[in-house]
Amino acid sequence: MKCVKCGAELTSEMFACGMCFSCGCSISESEEAFEIEQARIKAEADFAIQQQQEELERKSQEEQRMYAERFKNHMLTTGFSFEGYHISEYLGIVTGETIMGTGYFSDLSASISDLFGVEASEYSEKLRAAKQAVLKIMIKNSTDLGGNAIIGISYELMTFSGNMMGVSVTGTAVRAEKYSDNA
Ligand SMILES: [Zn+2]
Repeated sequence: MKCVKCGAELTSEMFACGMCFSCGCSISESEEAFEIEQARIKAEADFAIQQQQEELERKSQEEQRMYAERFKNHMLTTGFSFEGYHISEYLGIVTGETIMGTGYFSDLSASISDLFGVEASEYSEKLRAAKQAVLKIMIKNSTDLGGNAIIGISYELMTFSGNMMGVSVTGTAVRAEKYSDNA
């Protein structure tokens, strides 16, 4: 901290005396000026952070709206065509995968064989949720490529040791157009 009058660095001795030894002015003035400056810097920083957060929030809301719109109009099939549509563009393979950790099977015993026993319904519920999560990623990738549909979707289950399972999903992102659009 510096003296507000002469700019000299204030030492602890000067604080003890309440006076700047260089110019003789009262240190309370410097302290006040220091506090005002600190408050100003903090307010500026707070404002900048707030603006950043608002900007981020606005962007994420915009993005969510955009993806919600795209998801709504996006089609999926394990087949290779859609009734009433023709495929105008093949945009490439999209993939997604997820690993279901032990947490998914917390209520199950260690043996995988149990999965196909009494707890099968719980297992299939978890698998369904995992597939959905992966499809969301794939739809995002597809729409990023300009696609509005994924065809030829295939699922692959991977098993690992230690109660881990994975789902890998592959498909082809395409641009599908209604026949009437071009008629
Ligand atoms: Zn001074």
